[in-house]
Amino acid sequence: EALGPTVTVGEILVEIMATTVGAGFREPQALTGPYPSGAPAIFIDQVARMGGAAGIVASVGNDDFGRLNVDRLRQDGVDVSAIAVSEDWPTGSAFVRYRPDGARDFVFNIARSAAGQVGLTPAAKDLIGRAGHVHVMGTALSIPGAREVILYAIETVRARGGSISFDPNLRKELLTDDGALDSFNQVLGAADLLLPSGEELFTAAGLNDEVAAVASLLESGIGEIVLKRGEQGASFFGRDRQRVDCAAFAVDEIDPTGAGDSFGAAYLTCRRKGMTPDAALLHANAAGARNVTRLGPMEGVSTLVELAAFIAETPRR
Ligand code: ATP
Ligand code: MG
Repeated sequence: EALGPTVTVGEILVEIMATTVGAGFREPQALTGPYPSGAPAIFIDQVARMGGAAGIVASVGNDDFGRLNVDRLRQDGVDVSAIAVSEDWPTGSAFVRYRPDGARDFVFNIARSAAGQVGLTPAAKDLIGRAGHVHVMGTALSIPGAREVILYAIETVRARGGSISFDPNLRKELLTDDGALDSFNQVLGAADLLLPSGEELFTAAGLNDEVAAVASLLESGIGEIVLKRGEQGASFFGRDRQRVDCAAFAVDEIDPTGAGDSFGAAYLTCRRKGMTPDAALLHANAAGARNVTRLGPMEGVSTLVELAAFIAETPRR
């Protein structure tokens, strides 16, 4: 942590949710929102709420959707100096509706919103020049300007002796061009910590078996893999073949969006604060579980004090 803040790059969005379960948006329906969102934004907000030094390179419009986000991040302690405010583009958005089986339908406006305008501004260079860690969100790799910033940040932070984490959550809706896939592989090659969820482990390794996929990724030089298993909890795999499984906390799931982002931020922040993988995994599980009990992806982020209380009082599955 002494080396400098954790920095991430990518989309800031508002999220607008259907209030009913069903298939998509092809008829008028009741919606709720806007809620602050965007995987990198949720992640960095959770880092700051836990008392970790945190900053984000991003872009919003000069509108209320942008102000809603920037105000929240600033209030929670995130360095917002590298969030550009575009006069020409509106803040990005994601509309989401859950299906009965838990699958989600999205309507994204990212690439052609202010979020698509993320780039290597002087303020971005300044923040990255002070960073001790870069966290890469797969979702951001769908934005060409963000890719450039991410690759620059990896090089800069690496040269300063810092570290890199990667959440390979590049959804198929966002796999827009070859550049996304190329940069995905570059980031994977640079990562010290990988935070996949479910199938993403297989995609990253190019192998369809959990044990083989983990072994292959560790072999390729990744130091730690933390696999998110939703309501099944999570597992840690270390370079020396250690494995730690952590059962999920028993909670009522209200809104699963954002669980993986808070989980990753809690794990990383605990590790950067010097906790063991076991302790970090327990806190991350708590952060993910707490997040799903609140409507809105960023509404369930936690402080360390809240996590400790949650761990003490919540039964496990
Ligand atoms: P996202 O929905 O943000 O994409 P993800 O798929 O990356 O999330 P998940 O595995 O769904 O990640 O959730 C991350 C972590 O949060 C899990 O590993 C678990 O610790 C916790 N978690 C998620 N859902 C639940 C749940 N229903 N009950 C308890 N814990 C949960
Ligand atoms: Mg999930």
